Amino acid sequence: MPINQRHAQRTSNKPRNIKYHNQKLILSMFRKRDILSIAEISKRINLSKTTVTKVVNDFQAKGLVLATGKGDSTDVGGKKPEMFSFNAAYSQVIALTIGTNSIEGAVLDLKCGLISQDYLACDPKTPYQRAVQNMADMIRRMTKDGGIKIDKMHPIVVGCEGIIDAGSGIIHYTMHHQWGQNLPLRDDLVQALGVDATIYLDNNLRLAGYADMILDENPYDSQAVIITTRSAGGSILENQQLVHGVNGFIGEVGHMIIEPYSKIQCACGGYGCFGALVSPETVLARCRNEYRRFPKSLIFAKAQGGTLKITDLFEAANRRDPFSCAILDRVIHYFTIVIHNIVLLRDPEKIIIQGIYSDAGDYFLKNLQKKVNSLPFYKMDRNLPITYSSVSGFNPYLIGAGYYAVDVLLDFNSLYD
Ligand SMILES: [Zn+2]
Repeated sequence: MPINQRHAQRTSNKPRNIKYHNQKLILSMFRKRDILSIAEISKRINLSKTTVTKVVNDFQAKGLVLATGKGDSTDVGGKKPEMFSFNAAYSQVIALTIGTNSIEGAVLDLKCGLISQDYLACDPKTPYQRAVQNMADMIRRMTKDGGIKIDKMHPIVVGCEGIIDAGSGIIHYTMHHQWGQNLPLRDDLVQALGVDATIYLDNNLRLAGYADMILDENPYDSQAVIITTRSAGGSILENQQLVHGVNGFIGEVGHMIIEPYSKIQCACGGYGCFGALVSPETVLARCRNEYRRFPKSLIFAKAQGGTLKITDLFEAANRRDPFSCAILDRVIHYFTIVIHNIVLLRDPEKIIIQGIYSDAGDYFLKNLQKKVNSLPFYKMDRNLPITYSSVSGFNPYLIGAGYYAVDVLLDFNSLYD
């Protein structure tokens, strides 16, 4: 069964499947919290303490959950509860991300803590076959350093830019590397490793979006859309799964055409793509063209000196500098159009902003929320929640690939029967 269809296997209401669902629900809580008591789990997911105790005991026997001692009593004079935690050292996964100029890799524990890490240069001119060989060598080095085996039980997840067919592990094409089309990276990597390994391939931005769902307090949302800005893209999550579409185009919001007559060209070759209109290069160029008319602006000196960064613009807008706010208002306008279009196609439960604009602060977010929720289609009681991503750390793509790999590992049937 393809890995990306793995959740479909136990969806009926048979007692065995209900047990499986409860086990997965409890594990997902453990992945987010450091320590938990039976009562806390029982209350949060509305299951009896007896059921929760059975599941936790079973996980403890398998070594997935550890007893961490007594916690504080919630009632005055009450009994101190037994506390439990997720055993992140239970196993390990391997994550790789192929970027424009490099490939980064890591061996991670089950909470995506770093065990070993590697990096190699891979610019757009690096031939595909050499990149595959280099990745296989990297996996061998990292697993040796991390003291783990390359086998079916240690999933390898590879994130890549471009249009990816995740189901068959094929890169249809990348935007940056001169690799041609329809590359069976998953099979080629298995062959280069010479081992029967569990390998999953997906788009970098989709995987980063997946990490957001895992880290969300309520990961069982029916649908969330994540908009990422840097390489410009996004991901759509539905019933805890990434949505791909027939060709793997879903989520490429960066290439939605927002200004058809724009002269700004995107890396895809098109004009007026969302990602190109809100890229830091475009936004900072706008600042450079217009700053002279605003000598009192907080960003005037840096714009004049040629040292202005996008973070300076965010900071000044958060201090309500009128020029910086006006520049960001245009970005907000483009985001609003994209979100409006997404709403009409997917009607999501929430929108999450990842990438550069997730550091923009309160001016950007408040005004984006206000603008989106005043769209004609949102003249109703409920607002569309828009939040910043909760993924932080060394590399969101690598973390995303890591979380996905942990999910693949936690779906191995042997953990539940
Ligand atoms: Zn484009």
